[in-house]
Amino acid sequence: MKSLSVQPNASEVSKKKAVKIAVAKGDGIGPEIMDATLKILDAAGAMIKPEFIEVGNSVYLSGNSSGITSAAWDVVRENKVILKGPITTPQGKGYKSLNVTLRKSLGLFANVRPVMSLSPYVQTNFPEMDVVVIRENEEDLYAGIEHRQTQDVVQCLKLITRPGCERIVRYAFEYASAYDRSKVTCMVKDNIMKLTDGLFHKVFEEIGAEYPEIEKDVQIIDIASARLATRPEDYDVIVTSNLYGDIISDVAAEIVGSVGLAGSANIGTDIAMFEAIHGSAPDIAGLNLANPSGLINAAVMMLAHIGQQTVADKVKNAWLATIEHGYHTKDIFTQGRSTKKVSTDHFAEQVIERLGTAPENLKKSTLSKGNGQIVIPEFSRKPVEKKLVGVDVFLDWAEKDTNKLGEALDALGSYNLQLKMITNRGVKVYPHGIPETFCTDHWRCRFVSVKARIANDEPIYQEINYEQVVALLSRLNSSGFDVIKTENLYEFDGKRGFSLGQGE
Ligand code: NAD
Repeated sequence: MKSLSVQPNASEVSKKKAVKIAVAKGDGIGPEIMDATLKILDAAGAMIKPEFIEVGNSVYLSGNSSGITSAAWDVVRENKVILKGPITTPQGKGYKSLNVTLRKSLGLFANVRPVMSLSPYVQTNFPEMDVVVIRENEEDLYAGIEHRQTQDVVQCLKLITRPGCERIVRYAFEYASAYDRSKVTCMVKDNIMKLTDGLFHKVFEEIGAEYPEIEKDVQIIDIASARLATRPEDYDVIVTSNLYGDIISDVAAEIVGSVGLAGSANIGTDIAMFEAIHGSAPDIAGLNLANPSGLINAAVMMLAHIGQQTVADKVKNAWLATIEHGYHTKDIFTQGRSTKKVSTDHFAEQVIERLGTAPENLKKSTLSKGNGQIVIPEFSRKPVEKKLVGVDVFLDWAEKDTNKLGEALDALGSYNLQLKMITNRGVKVYPHGIPETFCTDHWRCRFVSVKARIANDEPIYQEINYEQVVALLSRLNSSGFDVIKTENLYEFDGKRGFSLGQGE
């Protein structure tokens, strides 16, 4: 099942007709770097037709808390490609982050951030680094589902879905094949989060098997991020979930000295957005000092995405040659290493002058070898048998005597549901807890229906129905317990769909 990849004849289509793209200049240095970038694209012969949209600070200040007008939404949804300058989010309550709104509303599930060393022209301790971080963009802890449940305890739900994992992992492998990359490393923490990160890992193995030509590796995120920060040359393409990806993509950009240089893409099944990774830099706005490289690199990714890979290479190679010749904006200028300190405009002119040339020492751009836009197949769900076998009931209980709670719940067992254990912050405290375990006011009480017990092994569970759960909850309530939430315990095709408590 490796027949996906490209929009048919994307490059042919683009040769005949300019592709309409939504362009948001953004705030702060946004207009300066956007003007510089568009000049370069025009000189390089990019077949694009920018349609300018208003987003960001002026829209926020006009009273629109989303930062984007409905007219701008229409252009984005019609054109399906956005080149976006950085946005200043005003301080204060009520303003929503435009980036999050765009990402979530448009289903931009993949964040793609290539980070490459420009050594010796730009100072870095890692001259061999050439990494692409592919971060899942919509799920994980960033679903933003949080609750305060007791006086002492708040929670944030970590949601990992099979369709989400399949999309991002497939995207990473397709990206690696399309852009001639030889290895994909998956970063997870499934030694602890066996179900959520375990699913990400499992999908990586399943989909990875369809790409025998690509080397695969799975690393635990903590050691992986330490290695990325110390031996980045060991990595090629990295695929990971939202939170880990958020952190390691910044680590990657920082260690190679490219916060002002890197571009990124936010890819959806239908719409894609391209931008620099830095912000609106209000401290240097309007001074013609900003480095437009991040946005230029984002635009290069956009050109490859819309099937204009040859122009993408032309721009990238001219940019690399400019960096190589030492024409550097203030942020990357170093005495001895750079030739000339240039303004934003002057830098763009230097790139335009070099269009058609290639760098002598830095790695040349080879996007034209790639396939352009990557298309991910629709998710198809397989039927599974789901069986309810118990319930975790969470109680708010401010007392400390664990045995008192356990014995009360033991006595309460109802409708074939018996107390199996109680945990506090995930650690089993009943039966056979130890007094040293610190307990809060948030207790998870697991009730199951057991069909058979096997010595030293997990029992075989018996299917229950939801009426039994409701009856148990009612009994707990009438006995004075404060039920704050429940989680049903299911088996899927006979496999346990819930984790065990620590010490269970
Ligand atoms: P920032 O990236 O704007 O600036 C950090 C530092 O880097 C500043 O000293 C700045 O002068 C410098 N810098 C950044 N880009 C540069 C460039 N192209 N050339 C030269 N120097 C550059 O980060 P910040 O100061 O934390 O944020 C400023 C504003 O940008 C905030 O309102 C923030 O919310 C917003 N922001 C927007 C985006 C986005 O739209 N994607 C991303 C990050 C931050």
